Amino acid sequence: MKQNDSKDVAGTSGAVLSAKGKNKDEMASLEVAEDSREAQWTKPSFMGSLFMGKLRTQDFMPFFDQTEEDKKIGDEYCAKLEKFLLENLDSDLVDETGIIPDKVMKGLADLGAFGMKLPKEYGGLELSQANYLRAIALVGSHCASTVALLSAHQSIGVPQPLKLFGTPEQKKKFLPRFSAGAVSAFALTEPEVGSDPARMSTTAKLSEDGNHYILNGTKLWCTNGAIAEVMVVMAKSPPKMVNGREKTQITAFIVEKNMPGFEVLHRCRFMGLAGIQNALLKFTNVKVPKENIIWGEGKGLRLALITLNAGRLSLPAACVGGVRQALKIQRAWGTERSQWGAPVGKHEAGANRLAQTASKLFAMDAMTFICGGWVDRGTHDIRLEAAIAKIYCSETAQNLLDETLQMRGGRGYERATSLRARGEKPFPVERMVRDGRINLIVEGTSDILSLFVAREALDGHLKVAGAVLNSRLGIGTRLAAAVKAGLFYAAWYPWQWLAPIVDFSFWPRFAGNGKLGKHLRYCKRTAHKLARTLFHLMALNGPKLEKRQLQLIRITKIGSEIFAMTASIGKAKKLGTKEAAELSDLFCRQAKARIAENFKAIRSNDDASIRKVAAGALSGTYEFLEKGSVRIG
Ligand SMILES: Cc1cc2nc3c(=O)[nH]c(=O)nc-3n(C[C@H](O)[C@H](O)[C@H](O)COP(=O)(O)OP(=O)(O)OC[C@H]3O[C@@H](n4cnc5c(N)ncnc54)[C@H](O)[C@@H]3O)c2cc1C
Repeated sequence: MKQNDSKDVAGTSGAVLSAKGKNKDEMASLEVAEDSREAQWTKPSFMGSLFMGKLRTQDFMPFFDQTEEDKKIGDEYCAKLEKFLLENLDSDLVDETGIIPDKVMKGLADLGAFGMKLPKEYGGLELSQANYLRAIALVGSHCASTVALLSAHQSIGVPQPLKLFGTPEQKKKFLPRFSAGAVSAFALTEPEVGSDPARMSTTAKLSEDGNHYILNGTKLWCTNGAIAEVMVVMAKSPPKMVNGREKTQITAFIVEKNMPGFEVLHRCRFMGLAGIQNALLKFTNVKVPKENIIWGEGKGLRLALITLNAGRLSLPAACVGGVRQALKIQRAWGTERSQWGAPVGKHEAGANRLAQTASKLFAMDAMTFICGGWVDRGTHDIRLEAAIAKIYCSETAQNLLDETLQMRGGRGYERATSLRARGEKPFPVERMVRDGRINLIVEGTSDILSLFVAREALDGHLKVAGAVLNSRLGIGTRLAAAVKAGLFYAAWYPWQWLAPIVDFSFWPRFAGNGKLGKHLRYCKRTAHKLARTLFHLMALNGPKLEKRQLQLIRITKIGSEIFAMTASIGKAKKLGTKEAAELSDLFCRQAKARIAENFKAIRSNDDASIRKVAAGALSGTYEFLEKGSVRIG
């Protein structure tokens, strides 16, 4: 079955299938999540096909390349941006003072940095996605607070949703303001509502004259919220009756800071990103004109998800920028610092850090920029790949930054300003570690995004077999679905076993890829194994699979490693150099080991014991372990 041409079967979602044993809140959350997801696949998806056993090498070969003209635009813009950053933005000072200075804000506005992706007709720079990501990586290598400001504004703040879904009037009214430097924000999270927006309590009631919505509620951790002129606010508008049942409606509103009833209650402070103007916001009877709804009533969460498909790529790009800087620091320190008779980069433990950083950076870069290329060409559905790039790059970057800190020894733990004050090179590794940690949490935590990927991985199967298991459907419909599913699996399942034998027995596949060919062959074989494994898990667990999060996360991890391997091979092939092949080869060798570990853990694991001990820990069975610590809270 092609991932991109399957028709959604109403009522076959995981949420509906597994209503048994769920409480009302859980069902409501799942239903909102299911209603918000994009059910159709209108374009090819590398990951969607992979989970069904098909490795689409054609997506990476040839690897996306910018046109000469587009590259020139990016080169020129990034050169201007870099000069500006070096001359004007002291990132250590931002960290110390918690302020991005006005001259930096103005300079960025003059450089068009708040309208990088906006069309020229609205005064924007109209950069391609690839050039936008290059700019974000550049800023991310220098100042994480500034990249968070630009990314929150551009990836999910008002410009992108308006560009995609705004009316001509909305675009004309707001977009030129952003191009000129107005900052925007996105307000979804609330004190009681983080990953699960169904229970949001901010409300939007229609006014008596029917011209306005009246917003009431509180929004937490809104990046740029303290300085934004305009923001997207998600609120519950009146529910709708659909098929006799009340459906929650979450709607996106454009709110301006000068609307009466809007207040910034508190500027939040964090372990890193000291310069972000992140705030707790309050809305008290804020009158928002009806025309300020983006896309339509009840479409708020879907809007956020679609906007984030490409918007989420800012984050891996910023991580790539950070790790580029980390590699530079490792190289400098690894060469100049000698202990026990040799530079620390030459002792095998230090050398390993350099090798890990270089080879993983190569793969992170490939994953992020292939997604950017797919966006620019409009050829692919990137919802899974962007989510994976976000999880993979944020987790890998954090690990590599931590290793960089370790390689710097005591200096890794010392603030850059302190290093500078006593005459040493002010490598800001300590700040980079603090700043990077949030990337595993914002725009979807690693857990939530992994489960999102797993949900989509199951989609191909749910579309074939979901109706069979759905007790809400009539017996006739279920029987017809069973026959159809039986026919599909009679051909599909044996092929997942046979293909690796047939494919590789008669001719050496991917021979034109030098020593990377063997890794591609591995990816192709492993795609079938992954598809079989997922199918077995479904067959064994049925609807309960949704609760086996550790297994689902392992499936996501295996898929992610295959994506990273294929991207790195595609990039190495495009570059065609010995060095690129070396980096990709090392990355692939190590990715294979991680994949093997995950397959092993799927077959044999301690999940049942983990569940038991976790339940004990939660209920206080092991309270004795906590004795001897000072009371908190
Ligand atoms: C610096 C910063 C900037 C932010 N910027 C913005 C912004 O601009 N706009 C905005 O709206 N929000 C913003 N946020 C909020 C951010 O998006 C949330 O923190 C994030 O969505 C997680 O929500 P939560 O913190 O409430 O965690 P919770 O949802 O309470 O989750 C707590 C933990 O439980 C896990 N978890 C939750 N549900 C499940 C589940 N079903 N299965 C398995 N694990 C689960 C999570 O992964 C997490 O590890 C920001 C937060 C910070 C700290």
